[in-house]
Amino acid sequence: MRYGILADIHSNLEALETVLGALERERPDRILCAGDLVGYGPDPAACLALIRQRRIPAVGGNHDWAVAGKLELAWFNETSGRAVEWTMQQLGEADRRWLGELPLLLRDAEITLVHASCHEPAQFPYLFDLVEVERSFTAQETPIAFIGHTHRPAVYTMEAGRVRGGALSEGKVPVGEKVLVNVGSVGQPRDGDCRASYCLYDSKQNRLEIRRLPYHLERTQAKIRKAGLPEFLAQRLAVGY
Ligand code: ZN
Repeated sequence: MRYGILADIHSNLEALETVLGALERERPDRILCAGDLVGYGPDPAACLALIRQRRIPAVGGNHDWAVAGKLELAWFNETSGRAVEWTMQQLGEADRRWLGELPLLLRDAEITLVHASCHEPAQFPYLFDLVEVERSFTAQETPIAFIGHTHRPAVYTMEAGRVRGGALSEGKVPVGEKVLVNVGSVGQPRDGDCRASYCLYDSKQNRLEIRRLPYHLERTQAKIRKAGLPEFLAQRLAVGY
């Protein structure tokens, strides 16, 4: 099975269209979304429409849940909270309900898809250190799992109880009893690379790739400013933070 996996779209239509365009050419068997479809960006309704029209299975992220009224605003800092409130006003009842009904975790025979962590996914922990990564591994029931949430692409392995931050070499899945992949962010990368990030995974060929694509981010920035969203949300797109 060939998978195309995206996460953290964050209402960035230009980035989403660019990634979906590439996936149309790459033609994976399944396209999946690891959550945070909305929040921060200027096009929540258009991004949701694209994902819903294409029937792309998605899990709920913290921003999706907040916009649906399932996570308190106190969870967020001021800038993020303002964007959540703005997004709530932009979306109709049906879209907000759809976001609130997203499952937190999807699993098939091969892979797990979750926004933040396999361990207590409703708490949306950030996997910034190996202790948190290990917690996720202990709850991971498939050989490979895909997450987003930190907006930084990363690969981890667990072998004989030992957790390591791995690196991808030549597009191969790193060796380990379990592998955890952070696919990075489509709409707001935070690893210093402003290009949209997504993942291609071929379970048969054992191949794994994080792809980066430039998109028209000046257009997104102009829309953020026009919408009156916090200026920082426009600036960060250009520096990848
Ligand atoms: Zn996010």
